[in-house]
Amino acid sequence: MPVRKPLAKDMAGFKPANSNTRVTIAGVPKSITPQFKPIQSQNLGLTSERSRQAMVDRLRLQGISNENVLSAMASVPRHIFVDQGLASRAYEDAALPIGHSQTISQPWVVARMLSAICDDNQAPQKVLEIGTGCGYQAAVMGQLFKQVFTIERIRALYDISQAHLQREGYRLVRTFFGDGMLGWSTHAPFDAIVVAAAGLAIPQALLDQLAVNGRLIAPEGSSNQHLVLIERTSPTQWKREVLEAVRFVPLLSGVQR
Ligand code: SAH
Repeated sequence: MPVRKPLAKDMAGFKPANSNTRVTIAGVPKSITPQFKPIQSQNLGLTSERSRQAMVDRLRLQGISNENVLSAMASVPRHIFVDQGLASRAYEDAALPIGHSQTISQPWVVARMLSAICDDNQAPQKVLEIGTGCGYQAAVMGQLFKQVFTIERIRALYDISQAHLQREGYRLVRTFFGDGMLGWSTHAPFDAIVVAAAGLAIPQALLDQLAVNGRLIAPEGSSNQHLVLIERTSPTQWKREVLEAVRFVPLLSGVQR
């Protein structure tokens, strides 16, 4: 199936209100907030390691401290995963449109979610992502974890993400076209699950497919959303912690062909 690039009309649906971003900068010390500046990508050399390194330095200032996550993000070329017309903005701390009213998550959101599922001592090995989108976060996960599984419900995005992941050499990331609300039972249980779209509640199938001591992170809510971190503490118990306010695209059931 041919891979279709996002068209101008796809971009038209994009607005900050439907992107995968943090809503506030609560929890970030005030003293460092003035240092948040857009990266001058052109001056730094668009595709260069320096642009990515600047993005990573900014993530550090924004409170991300997991060095494994930061070095994974320093190594994945985010500009490859967006439309050419947006490549100059790829290292800004912003969600960007990827067509079909969906977005590539803001770098801070990716860093925050992946840090939250990593224990300081033991990184998860087998991780499931719901909402592949263009494949960027899956690629970062591919740098961090031994086994990565990712599910996308929009056929065109599934095709685009596969092309991106294969071209960039992330062949060990296993992709699936389907409804991620059902999880991927063949490969369960997972040490961690990352959900990149917001539902009113976290689907029970995903909670069930989490290994004991495993962690799941997901945005939850409709107009008022928060990241929620779940830890499965026993076969029948899940501990829940509410983190930052965010704004994500909706988690929808079924598939779009
Ligand atoms: N992980 C992406 C973010 C993509 S945006 C990144 O790297 O930036 C969220 C994605 O979740 C969209 O592509 C949307 O189609 C998808 N999505 C929403 N509901 C879903 C579901 N039930 N199953 C699988 N994917 C879903």
